[in-house]
Amino acid sequence: MKFVVFSGGVGGAKFADGIVRAVGGENLTVIVNVGDDFELYGMPISPDIDTVVYTLAGVANPTTGWGLEGETWNNFERLVALDAKPWFRLGDKDLATHLLRTQQRRSGATLSHTTQDLARRLGVTARVLPITDDRLRTMVETDNGMLEFQDYFVRHQCEPKVRGLTFIGSEEARPNGAAVAAIEEADCIVFGPSNPFLSLEPMLAMPIVKDALFSASAPIIAVTPIIAGEAVKGPAAKLMRELNLDPSAVTVAKHYSDVINGFVLDSQDAHLKAEIEAMGIGVHVTDTLMRDRDDRARLACEVVNFADALRPNKLGGCKIV
Ligand code: GDP
Repeated sequence: MKFVVFSGGVGGAKFADGIVRAVGGENLTVIVNVGDDFELYGMPISPDIDTVVYTLAGVANPTTGWGLEGETWNNFERLVALDAKPWFRLGDKDLATHLLRTQQRRSGATLSHTTQDLARRLGVTARVLPITDDRLRTMVETDNGMLEFQDYFVRHQCEPKVRGLTFIGSEEARPNGAAVAAIEEADCIVFGPSNPFLSLEPMLAMPIVKDALFSASAPIIAVTPIIAGEAVKGPAAKLMRELNLDPSAVTVAKHYSDVINGFVLDSQDAHLKAEIEAMGIGVHVTDTLMRDRDDRARLACEVVNFADALRPNKLGGCKIV
């Protein structure tokens, strides 16, 4: 069985971890957003890739969802003491990842290569692929002007009102060949519960990726990141309101409706099932909140079984539940 999960940071990473427990890491390719990537002190930073790799390695910080567990902040505090006004928190342990990646990139390694190398060093069995090795950057058009993603997300704490989004490079960047092949060969493709506009859209805005999804033979299922009109974490609902969209699971399903066959709706939104089915999308209703690792595995297993129900030839499903 070949599974593909599209992921941003925390939500998608937790779900991908569930899929590893449900079907085994050797059967999973995680395709990760790089629209949030940026440079800090000359170091290339890939927040979503690191969140996915750390989560799959079981070393992610359980409180924040990003960064490493047991982190210390001596370096950050030293930058404060030097009046360098640091605004992006890189922990002492996390810094090792960035030093290694910077050295590798300066020696000519691609982001795909450094990602694979980090995953191997941390014992991750799933394949983690950046959507592209080329430049793809999310820009947020706000009341305070055009902001780079991290400027909006971290420095401004998502406070400025969003008017629109631009994905620089989405037309020109070449998608990762291995990611396109994984989409073509997959038995099941899942859009993890990530921010549809900030985390998944930069990848779907790449024409070759969208075409690969259109022609994929596997069922494509999206897991809702919105529960009862609110995001579990982050600015998804606020952003939807600012873009004059109703912050609901129906809006998410509509947004993906040209490519998905199935949608996983939270039990709290069960009353929206018929509205989504009316778009020609199959719906599975369940508790989608992943509080712990068992929740992740149970949700992933239900998605595997749902995908199997949508396929003409059955894969045999998942037996954890
Ligand atoms: P970010 O890059 O760290 O913001 O992470 P993502 O884009 O992957 O995820 C953020 C989205 O995931 C938010 O819209 C959350 O509502 C959603 N999310 C996070 N955890 C969960 C969860 O346990 N269940 C569901 N259904 N959604 C979640």
